[in-house]
Amino acid sequence: MAQQPTTQPTPAGVPLLDVNRDNRPHREEFIEALTDVVDSGRFLFGPDVTELECEVAGYCQVDNAVGCASGSDALLLALMALNIGPGDEVIVPSFTFFASVSCITRLGATPVFADICPDTFNVDPQSIQSLISTKTKAIIPVHLFGQCAQIDSICQIAGKHDIPVIEDAAQAIGAAYHSRPAGSWGEIGCFSFYPTKNLGGMGDGGMITTRDAALADRLRLFAGHGMRPRYYHQVVGINSRLDTFQAAVLRVKLRHLSAAIDARTEVADRYDRLLQEAGVVSSEAITLPTRDANATHVWNQYAIRVDGGRRDQLRSYLSERSIGSEIYYPVPMHEQECFQDIEFRHNGLTETERASREVLNLPVFPSLTEAEQGRVVDAIASFYAAAARAAA
Ligand SMILES: *Cc1c(COP(=O)(O)O)cnc(C)c1O
Repeated sequence: MAQQPTTQPTPAGVPLLDVNRDNRPHREEFIEALTDVVDSGRFLFGPDVTELECEVAGYCQVDNAVGCASGSDALLLALMALNIGPGDEVIVPSFTFFASVSCITRLGATPVFADICPDTFNVDPQSIQSLISTKTKAIIPVHLFGQCAQIDSICQIAGKHDIPVIEDAAQAIGAAYHSRPAGSWGEIGCFSFYPTKNLGGMGDGGMITTRDAALADRLRLFAGHGMRPRYYHQVVGINSRLDTFQAAVLRVKLRHLSAAIDARTEVADRYDRLLQEAGVVSSEAITLPTRDANATHVWNQYAIRVDGGRRDQLRSYLSERSIGSEIYYPVPMHEQECFQDIEFRHNGLTETERASREVLNLPVFPSLTEAEQGRVVDAIASFYAAAARAAA
């Protein structure tokens, strides 16, 4: 028999995400819930949709929640329900996902870009304040990476000028500021159930929260073709529904959400400790994510800052060792090709541009193991050890 070649076992890689591994323990619950939907035949407007709306409203401590097709639609519907259109300005961070901004331009309104705080990557309330004009019709703070922006100050500033706040809480279900949930601070909260979000479905889905029953009614009107009663269209709405299959899956996931958040928090705490112990936390190497003392972080992302212009080198090094990482976000919105014809008002986006060059997101998901985290940190440590040897 031929001798097996003796090779060193290559250390296993670490995925950025493993949605399948996270979902597997709940497989039976999903099948049961989905079977009920199959048997009911109520694929749209089934009882699970209404139940989920009530459960999410309760979870976010608001009176109303309206399901829709995605987090992107939630934001679009929010602006539609507030009558925002051409000539109106909406203040939003440039350091965010595209959907926070495309909802504005799609309605013919103009985004005005606020800069971020360098520590949390979240929008800077002072920057928002300085950008308010008579044309400002809404403010969209984004609770980036699962940590609330300084939403108390933002709501205070907005309140003084009577400007509605739309929270982009797509990454932040379960997060809180001063113990008050994300999505309950502003006039409207927008959530996404994209599979990689903290409450992730098995497809697209979204939800809108509001304390105002009349506004909830208007959001529902816009999400249903503006039609009321049937075939009579009061406004030009869109078709945006959360289907019953997604709602059934999401109700199962919601039961496990707080355990999932606890697991993510444990992962984040362990990264903080392991990276410190590895000696890579310094002004020349890595900066750990900053925790706002007033915020409850739900760790949709673990975002480090890589100093000294070495972010892309570190990412390649990790990638060569099959360790997943991602850059959220490499190109700020004001620099996107599709917006090049728009003249943006802002007051300097230095921190936004620096963050897009320095941020690096490490693997974080509830079922990530301690051993896997160890491999991520070992690889980062060996990158800096190799860099130090090369410099010596
Ligand atoms: C994911 C996300 C959205 C959009 O949600 P979809 O459900 O994918 O449409 C909007 N804003 C932010 C900040 C997001 O992360």
